Amino acid sequence: MNRSRLEWADFAWAPITGCMRECTACVPRKRAFCASIDVRHHITDPRCKGDKDARLFELEEPFSSGRNIIALPFGFFPTRHRYRDDNPGLIKVSRRFLVGHMGDIFGEWVPDKWIEEVFESCARYPYHRYMFITKTPWRYEALWRAGKLPVSSNYWYGTVLENSQDTAFNAHGVNSFALIEPVSGSFANPAGHTQLRNVSWVVLSAESGRAAINEKMQAVWAKEIVEIAAANGTPVFVRNNLRDQWLPGAPQEYPAELLRENANTSDEYRAYHYGRCPICGQESPTREMLALMVRVGRTAPRRLWYVHRPCLEHHAQIWGGADTLDAIIEEMTARQKA
Ligand code: SF4
Ligand SMILES: [Zn+2]
Repeated sequence: MNRSRLEWADFAWAPITGCMRECTACVPRKRAFCASIDVRHHITDPRCKGDKDARLFELEEPFSSGRNIIALPFGFFPTRHRYRDDNPGLIKVSRRFLVGHMGDIFGEWVPDKWIEEVFESCARYPYHRYMFITKTPWRYEALWRAGKLPVSSNYWYGTVLENSQDTAFNAHGVNSFALIEPVSGSFANPAGHTQLRNVSWVVLSAESGRAAINEKMQAVWAKEIVEIAAANGTPVFVRNNLRDQWLPGAPQEYPAELLRENANTSDEYRAYHYGRCPICGQESPTREMLALMVRVGRTAPRRLWYVHRPCLEHHAQIWGGADTLDAIIEEMTARQKA
């Protein structure tokens, strides 16, 4: 997991990498080519799991070679990196995670199971904001229809649009955004207006590392998009690679749910990081409380409650002789139900 170089995200997380498409200007593919070293050799390694015939690879552990970790041992072939699943948990405060920047994690070749596992990881750390991107928005749609697409306010589903004829994901009640990268045509037409109206956020970018294509870009197209989004009341974020050269001073806006100042106030953040003391009934950050754990026999310890230390100490004095766990549990359960 890397601190993101994309200024509109805090971290870039790649539990699935790779893509079967062959877009001519694919920057991740070039990076993968440099980072893979010897794909043919790695595919024959016993650590390489998955469906090799279908060119779908799975790794349970980081792929190391001597002292080095090879981030993408199978190049740009779709690869599931399970050992990265709990990376968001390394960050304890709410951050914006870009998911799927090294390939297309919703490509038609990606097994449902892989995607569901990624959603399970996100659910374990619900206080982050997850921003997915794909060029396969029908996959969002299919998952949504199957009731498998998480729809809370901290999930954002982005569609990469190349021109106004592409269709952004737009399902009722689900946060969606358009990533227009690179801006390579006008959206000031009926189809473009429809696409920009259907999303809750628009991100604009020039092509990274492709001066030839950027030369074809016209600043007026980006300006039009900014104006259309503003007229719709949709926040728009113009990336620095476009802003510096073509649109100085262009906005870098976020929807309210993605603003940094709202990061640690969301319901998801509170639910994860706050506990309600069963003695006094007050809510506090769990880092300021004691966790009461119980273990039966050889089972793994299970957390019963978070409790304020002063509350517990006060009660310990009142109870005096109440030295059995049963008495404490009974008392707290009664208070929690009350
Ligand atoms: S869809 Fe994205 S990741 Fe896949 S080849 Fe095209 S640019 Fe690269
Ligand atoms: Zn208390």
